[in-house]
Amino acid sequence: MSSAKHGRRAAPKPPARLRTRSTRESAPHSARRDASATPAPVRTAPKPRTRSLRPAFSVIAMTFVGGMMIATSVPALAITATDPEPRASVYAPVEDSITLAPQTIEVASEAELEPMDSEGYAVEAAPPPIFSEVASVGSVSIVESDAIVWPVVSWEKRASGFGPRSAPCSGCSTFHDGVDFNPGNGTPVMSIADGVVVLATEDGGGLGVNVEVQHNIGGELITSSYAHMQYGSLQVSEGQRVSAGQQIGLVGTTGQSTGPHLHLEMFGADGARFDGFAWLTEHIG
Ligand SMILES: [Zn+2]
Repeated sequence: MSSAKHGRRAAPKPPARLRTRSTRESAPHSARRDASATPAPVRTAPKPRTRSLRPAFSVIAMTFVGGMMIATSVPALAITATDPEPRASVYAPVEDSITLAPQTIEVASEAELEPMDSEGYAVEAAPPPIFSEVASVGSVSIVESDAIVWPVVSWEKRASGFGPRSAPCSGCSTFHDGVDFNPGNGTPVMSIADGVVVLATEDGGGLGVNVEVQHNIGGELITSSYAHMQYGSLQVSEGQRVSAGQQIGLVGTTGQSTGPHLHLEMFGADGARFDGFAWLTEHIG
């Protein structure tokens, strides 16, 4: 780019042009004028012969240099070297003119623009957002989650797994529809994936302080529910977007609970609970 700029700017450079002109025209003139003792410009003073030789030599030198510059720095068609106009004669006076073949680019006549095959560049499309109705907020769009994480540190410490069990308390169900994590009282509880909070309450009945988050997992609506958290520990509200790993509350023992733990329930669009521990193990790897 800089060479193109240079070439274009160099062509009309006035001082160089003046010098070449005077070389050709002033030599005979000044010879005649010297005879009549006309005061001459500094350059055309006493010795016309040597004087005219020296510029002639420098013109040749300049021609060479100019030719090199043109050859190396002029983009195609910026200057037509064969142009009879003395545009390019800044460096090459007519009598010493260098003829440069115009630069051309050979393109095969059969070359054709091939239409781009857009299907060749197809990228696996992200699943469309899921639209969900949030009671207190209205319709919300849920975009696919980028990540899936465990809801607590020390996730390997579990008190109770998913499935049939003997009821741990009077009124507790004999089918455990969640997974109990036991990382310790006050441990931060985090959203397992990006999503939208659809429930955030301190009055979740048997679930105590409870948050539900809906996620778009590969285009499928998945809900995670976090129960028994501490009063006053909620960090989110209904309709709020959360990201994977974002803290939503603290492990507690509110609601129908026999001790501090996180009760995590997971279910799909049909509401049927499934084993969240197995699902997380599979998805986190
Ligand atoms: Zn539980």
